[in-house]
Amino acid sequence: MILLSACLAGVDCRYDGGSRLEQELIDLVKQGKAILVCPEQLGGMTTPRPPCEIIGGDGEAVLKGQAKVSNCHGEDRTACFVKGAEETVKIAKLYGAKAAILKAKSPSCGSGHIYDGTFSQKLQDGDGVTTALLKKNGFVVLDESNFREYIEKM
Ligand code: SF4
Repeated sequence: MILLSACLAGVDCRYDGGSRLEQELIDLVKQGKAILVCPEQLGGMTTPRPPCEIIGGDGEAVLKGQAKVSNCHGEDRTACFVKGAEETVKIAKLYGAKAAILKAKSPSCGSGHIYDGTFSQKLQDGDGVTTALLKKNGFVVLDESNFREYIEKM
């Protein structure tokens, strides 16, 4: 079993109310191999919603209380992001997932690179909050650019 960002499989849960359709990922859901999650919705955020970025660090720093998540209006959304990450890890454990394929660059789901907190489309190194908590709990986290080799072995 694998967790999958719902916005990669046609669910309109993105901050702007949109989504993507990755047919290979939708096939995983149809085959019963993937569970859809949206950490930001699981954390209680509405859709659509103002975009958020991590300010002052990455997801790991947020989990340590050393950085925060704000929306583009400067409103603190850290608690929603941490709650969404915790719910996602709970789902992963409940359903025996070993890995997750999550949307790149997102402040929740990004892996390796996320937006830098300036709301100017610039990237910094680091993971989103959910990715950081999944990795801390031993889960493999991939994104839409590097999942194929992994699913071929499933
Ligand atoms: Fe939800 Fe993650 Fe997609 Fe954002 S990137 S809409 S948190 S699944």
